[in-house]
Amino acid sequence: MPAAVDGRARSRQPAQDPSSPLSTPPSLKAKLAKLGIRREFDLVLHLPLRYEDETRLTPIVEAHEGVPVQVEGTVIDSQIAYRPRRQLVCKIEDGSGLLYMRFLNFYGSQAKALVAGARVRAFGEARPGFFGAEMVHPRYRIVRADTPLPEALTPIYPTTAGLPQAALRRLIAQALAQCELDDTLPAETLEQLRMPAFRDAIGALHRPRPGDDARALTGRTHPAWRRMKLDELLAQQLSMRLHYRERKRRTAPVLDRPGPLTAGLRARLPFRLTRAQVRAWAEIERDLGEAHPMRRLLQGDVGSGKTVVAALAALRAVENGYQAAVMAPTEILAEQHYRKFSEWLAPLGVQLTWLSGSQKKKERTAAAADIAAGTTRVAVGTHALFQEGVVFQSLGLAIVDEQHRFGVEQRLALRAKGLGSQGAGADGGASAEPHQLMMSATPIPRTLSMSYYADLDVSLIDEMPPGRKPVTTKLIAAERRDEVLARVREACRAGGQAYWVCPLIEDNGDAAEAGAGATRAQGRRPGRRQAQALQLQNVLDTHARLAAEFTDLRVGLVHGRLAGADKAAVMADFAAGKIQLLVATTVIEVGVDVPNASLMIIEHAERFGLAQLHQLRGRVGRGADDSVCILLYQKPLSELARARLKVVYESGDGFEIARQDLLLRGPGEYLGVRQSGAPLLRFADLELDADLLETARDLAPRLLQQHPQHARRHLERWLGGNSELMKV
Ligand code: ADP
Ligand code: MG
Repeated sequence: MPAAVDGRARSRQPAQDPSSPLSTPPSLKAKLAKLGIRREFDLVLHLPLRYEDETRLTPIVEAHEGVPVQVEGTVIDSQIAYRPRRQLVCKIEDGSGLLYMRFLNFYGSQAKALVAGARVRAFGEARPGFFGAEMVHPRYRIVRADTPLPEALTPIYPTTAGLPQAALRRLIAQALAQCELDDTLPAETLEQLRMPAFRDAIGALHRPRPGDDARALTGRTHPAWRRMKLDELLAQQLSMRLHYRERKRRTAPVLDRPGPLTAGLRARLPFRLTRAQVRAWAEIERDLGEAHPMRRLLQGDVGSGKTVVAALAALRAVENGYQAAVMAPTEILAEQHYRKFSEWLAPLGVQLTWLSGSQKKKERTAAAADIAAGTTRVAVGTHALFQEGVVFQSLGLAIVDEQHRFGVEQRLALRAKGLGSQGAGADGGASAEPHQLMMSATPIPRTLSMSYYADLDVSLIDEMPPGRKPVTTKLIAAERRDEVLARVREACRAGGQAYWVCPLIEDNGDAAEAGAGATRAQGRRPGRRQAQALQLQNVLDTHARLAAEFTDLRVGLVHGRLAGADKAAVMADFAAGKIQLLVATTVIEVGVDVPNASLMIIEHAERFGLAQLHQLRGRVGRGADDSVCILLYQKPLSELARARLKVVYESGDGFEIARQDLLLRGPGEYLGVRQSGAPLLRFADLELDADLLETARDLAPRLLQQHPQHARRHLERWLGGNSELMKV
């Protein structure tokens, strides 16, 4: 074998036990772990990123920019240069032309091997350089004149620093030889689906055959790829189903007796529930009456009236002798729930308690004591509700608003809250866990609800309360700000109220409180603090300017850096109509409900995400007046910003917006899928492979029922140690 050398590092293999590639030195183990490779079978499933065609040689003169090619030539000169920085420059020629190979990172051994006279085969993209054509960091190897060209495409694997392709390839080859590759799908199923056998598919991907279609392999449309994607999606479906079944084996308090509280609230409401609300409540009511924990997502566009349905659920717990907890990801939202619930529950004599992280220690201790003693029947607050030190006497139901903003750990903590508590209800189950009702205004597109969220039951409120008028959306360039100011003045003088929203990503205020993983990760980016300080300054300036502009109006200000009590006071004043114009950041993004506000200005709308814009806009259009949302934007617009603004301008439909958002962002970021506890899909793409998703969904129950052994092996193969997902 010729000495194979990767462009970046030596390919010398660490000494290892050949029987198991993973009983290897810790350093290699760590590198493999970085790639998600923990078991031997993970190597089998470590599939190529792309394929390169090394079956042909291209004369150097024909190596054009933008096209990766393989060239072969003799080294005529090789030097370590020091300007502009240390680098290895190696000149080769093949009779047709000259080519420089340039390495900014290299080992001494590489410099030694690349000496004049050596024959080199290099793969890369040639670019016109200062002295002539050059390749920067090509993959290369030293060859003999008679070294044959490979006959098939070369797989290129995702890898990490210090783990060369050649080493990875060897480990994978060993795993392929040692692992059991029998099919996990019955032969008749494969035939029905016209899918290749697992062994054949995996072989085709790791070792393409001569003449295989590079485009289908790299583009992942090849039948072998479709088999892998199906397998991956099937593993997800199986695991979701098993989680669902497992949940049905756990116990929860039976909250099945209708009582005076739910009836009382319905009788006192100033409106009739919509048909959709009635249906959702019936579904929740049925779940609560069962002895297994409910995991239901109450979904409805902003303003569809989820809160009252949640209040009915809370009262059902109370009238069955249990406590309920209502949790929101931000103080403002929690505060608002507290006010709404007070209004509805106090007349019914239900003891309500407020608990949040910004409370004084003394108040919080007192609240926790009431919760522990059971004096509190319904507790409302932020995630502080399920922190250590808060023990419920008998939690029967946890209601989580905007659930996707909470992290997995917090959801687990919540589940644990009910465990071991003494149920006061008829069954008094000591190990019962609370039911969970999650609420979200962010619609889950069908492909997502079929995959990552497949273990949840969903109730949809697909109807708005009567009398709602659609919000008119206007796109206005920032130069026309004066016209917008005139509009605000007019609206407020006529007795209306308005929001003026400024961009400021809140991450150490409310959002951090929600513990959103994505937000935390972003928070580590350098320069972000500075950017935030600037943004905050901009909010303060805007407030000052607007206050100076509208001397006859009360202009309020709310942002995440305010103390909890100050925020609450401002929001209360706005709700009471004492403040006419509220300058705000995205802290008002979710749930805030002030029907008299019918005008919203969003400054620098181009900086907001799609879902955010839709949520913000949902703050208006809640009263009887015609509402307007003005998106003020700064030119020039980026392609993406233009696309986003266009979607929000053209559609008021949360589902359509969500679909577009998913297309623009991908599922990883969307809806906190990373928080869902489900492993992210590596190979399948929810949109592109929607047909396979359907197939997997239909196949999963059949496999579990008819071929449970196959199903078990399939899960073991694909999820291995990860099958114990943190689904809650
Ligand atoms: P969201 O679903 O966004 O949480 P809310 O629960 O805050 O919506 O409801 C928005 C507004 O609509 C509230 O003022 C609420 O009292 C009111 N509302 C809810 N249901 C109805 C109904 N059936 N008829 C009229 N108004 C309703
Ligand atoms: Mg709400």
